[in-house]
Amino acid sequence: MSTCIFCEIVNKKKKATILHEDDQVVAFEDTRPQAPIHFLVIPRPHIETVLDADKETLGNLLAIAVQEAKKKGLDSNGFRTVINCKRYAGQSVNHLHVHVMGGRWFSWPPG
Ligand code: AMP
Repeated sequence: MSTCIFCEIVNKKKKATILHEDDQVVAFEDTRPQAPIHFLVIPRPHIETVLDADKETLGNLLAIAVQEAKKKGLDSNGFRTVINCKRYAGQSVNHLHVHVMGGRWFSWPPG
């Protein structure tokens, strides 16, 4: 999908600070971080929401989220993962993405 900014990052048409890429998954820094550490993990194919993803994709996304979180030292104090799905959750980019945030305390329940 040509108008999807995350597809553009996957296809190197838009710059991003890439943390990891393989044949299934790309991880990159969020440009508007909500925590000292905030990155996104996405599937290479254009999959709109978590509702549309198969088990393998979901497993790959979480495995890379954890791998990159550990690389950034987030395993010592913990971190938060978030997948916003559709409008009630505030999904603003319609390409499935896992947020990984850390480096500060997070409240619960979220707003
Ligand atoms: P969501 O609201 O769950 O759809 O999250 C979308 C996230 O994508 C937000 O945290 C944005 O800051 C982030 N974002 C939007 N455009 C870019 C971009 N070009 N590079 C990196 N992150 C982005």
